[in-house]
Amino acid sequence: MISGKLIVLTGPSGVGKGTLVRTLLSRHPKLYLSISATTRSPRLGEINGQDYYFINNTKFESMIQQNQLLEWAQYAGNYYGTPRINVQEKINKGFIVLLEIEVAGAEAIKKTFSNALRIFILPPSLKELESRLRGRATDSEQSITKRLKLAKEELAVSQKFDKVITNHNLEKTLRQLELIIFSTQS
Ligand code: 5GP
Repeated sequence: MISGKLIVLTGPSGVGKGTLVRTLLSRHPKLYLSISATTRSPRLGEINGQDYYFINNTKFESMIQQNQLLEWAQYAGNYYGTPRINVQEKINKGFIVLLEIEVAGAEAIKKTFSNALRIFILPPSLKELESRLRGRATDSEQSITKRLKLAKEELAVSQKFDKVITNHNLEKTLRQLELIIFSTQS
């Protein structure tokens, strides 16, 4: 039977997870990115069903109650979660499914998906993380402050994850990720 696997990419907001994932997807057709549900409002240019499923609190809470999420967390005042159904379906079809999620959800996923391989992406430093968050200019000052505060707590648990990679340089980090994702042991 062909069976894929589940790779969880986590790390603080601004560390470069999104860029890493987008590049991996463009290079490897066997990869599939799970689309999360969130109660956060769409940013300019974000599309429902493509970047996220943008839903309200009532709908999100009903998904939790009906056990439709593989993991979920509250982050910077909003809910984020991984719909269970697509992930399982794609794994059964032999895809390598990627989740790009925050740290609490990545910790929790071991309970619902014990074979998940969880990779933590570290920034070179907190200063660098702050300048990346500011540089992408997508968040308000209040949101950046919240995200930096959370980042300090998130970095403190990085060693609990299966693999830890410091994102100094995009190409180098991609090569490390490719080695981990496509190795037969993982
Ligand atoms: P953003 O608001 O910047 O899109 O995402 C905020 C944080 O939520 C990021 O660290 C992102 O990886 C994370 N996130 C996105 N989708 C999910 C999800 O389904 N579950 C969890 N736990 N975190 C998610």
